[in-house]
Amino acid sequence: MHPNSDRERARILELEEAARALDPDKGERDRLMRAAHGFAQHLLSDISKKPAYSHDKSAVEEIRKLGADDGPHPIEQLIARFDESVVRPGLLPSHPGHLAYIPGGGLYASSLADYLAAVTNEYAGVRFVGPGSVEMEDLILDWMARVVGFPATADGNLASGGSIASLTAIVAAREAAGLRARDFDRAVVYATPHIHQCLHKAIRVAGMGETARRDIPVDEGFRMCPRSLSELVAADRAQGLRPWLVLGSAGTADTGAIDPLDRIAEICRREGLWFHVDAAYGGFFALLDEFRPRLAGLERADSLVLDPHKSMFLPYGTGAVLVRNRDALQDAHAYYAAYLQDTVESEGGGRSPAAVSPELTKHFRALRVWLPLLLHGEEPFRACLREKLELTKYFHGEVEKLGFELGPEPDLTVVTFRWVPESGSANAFNQALVEETHRDGRVFMSSTTVKGKFMLRMAALAFRTHLDTIDLALAVLREALERLQAHPERWRPTVAAARRTG
Ligand SMILES: *Cc1c(COP(=O)(O)O)cnc(C)c1O
Repeated sequence: MHPNSDRERARILELEEAARALDPDKGERDRLMRAAHGFAQHLLSDISKKPAYSHDKSAVEEIRKLGADDGPHPIEQLIARFDESVVRPGLLPSHPGHLAYIPGGGLYASSLADYLAAVTNEYAGVRFVGPGSVEMEDLILDWMARVVGFPATADGNLASGGSIASLTAIVAAREAAGLRARDFDRAVVYATPHIHQCLHKAIRVAGMGETARRDIPVDEGFRMCPRSLSELVAADRAQGLRPWLVLGSAGTADTGAIDPLDRIAEICRREGLWFHVDAAYGGFFALLDEFRPRLAGLERADSLVLDPHKSMFLPYGTGAVLVRNRDALQDAHAYYAAYLQDTVESEGGGRSPAAVSPELTKHFRALRVWLPLLLHGEEPFRACLREKLELTKYFHGEVEKLGFELGPEPDLTVVTFRWVPESGSANAFNQALVEETHRDGRVFMSSTTVKGKFMLRMAALAFRTHLDTIDLALAVLREALERLQAHPERWRPTVAAARRTG
């Protein structure tokens, strides 16, 4: 042996000893797991008795104080930091009282799936190395395609969320239309003003910020008016422009409005336009036979986006895109690299997820969909969606009884409403009202502006939201209302000023 090699080996073994800290042994794994599991048990037991929202965000700065380069720290200390600085301040999204925006989920079974995905670190980007994880993703995509009524020949991808799924679809739509940079300022996109902003973002990120956009008028329920769409397409053609893409909504984020998808699909077919449907919020309601007619036409889209981290109650980090024409999706996303050459030739089983998405390496998302779906079966998912529709109707009726003015009739699980005070600015009153409910914190509702009116907004979609949560939300509203009526200076600056000076 070379005289240096003993010293060399000793140095390597020293490094190994230090590196082994990254690979805890069985006993240590047990100890770490008990700490994490203990925290989860503590959080989830009696979660509804904890606040849904905390105004006090002062503990957040402790994250910086602890720093990132000053470990090791004991797991108990780190979990306590996580609890105080992350879980408690602001919104607790896994709380039943999360009634704001579009609530997310956090199914327990998915947390276990994420644990197993991370422990095995299965590779979900390329079929050759991760045949099972890719097969599982394909199975989930086939299941979703059946749910929305897409043909078996459709293709898709599990993405990080609705935004990246939308980008994936928009790029496919661009390639399918054969649009090149020189065409962009003649290409026209049609949508209502209520389409999710992530679609405008996707168009810009796809390099197509120069496309013309047409705002399609809506009916009293904020649903696209198909006749106006036809007229605008005809006018654009007459101008020599190139109508390209229609963006429909199966549930807008603002009010949950569902566009008349069937009639829009008909226009798109007749005019040769790509029809994309944003079903991030409403798509999974197609699991309900009685709701399917409300989504008629969804199955005629060229592409659509679903957000399992919303209406399938998964933890954040899973969106899905489905595209009817599988070639369009591959034309937009497939690439080749020499260092991956041995992954290509044996792809008898079909394309890899990396060939239909901007991502190569990605989180093994299919497992967090598959495990809860097969563990629980479809039925509890249906019941949970149905329950949310019923809770929405119930809430709608009850806020009306309390004397609130209501926004449009809900298509899905969002109710918008406002209080009209006897005098003074209704907008100021309702802004103060939503802030009053945030200070209370037992539930968390948000607000929106509809036709210049400041409206409160209740969205029932968190899987832990049940009848007692809705009753609590009504109590919180009633009490907040009483406080504001007893203290007009909280919403009328002139009254506040008069009290200060008087
Ligand atoms: C949430 C949402 C999106 C965006 O999806 P992300 O998962 O947040 O990226 C798009 N459209 C609608 C209707 C949504 O509710």
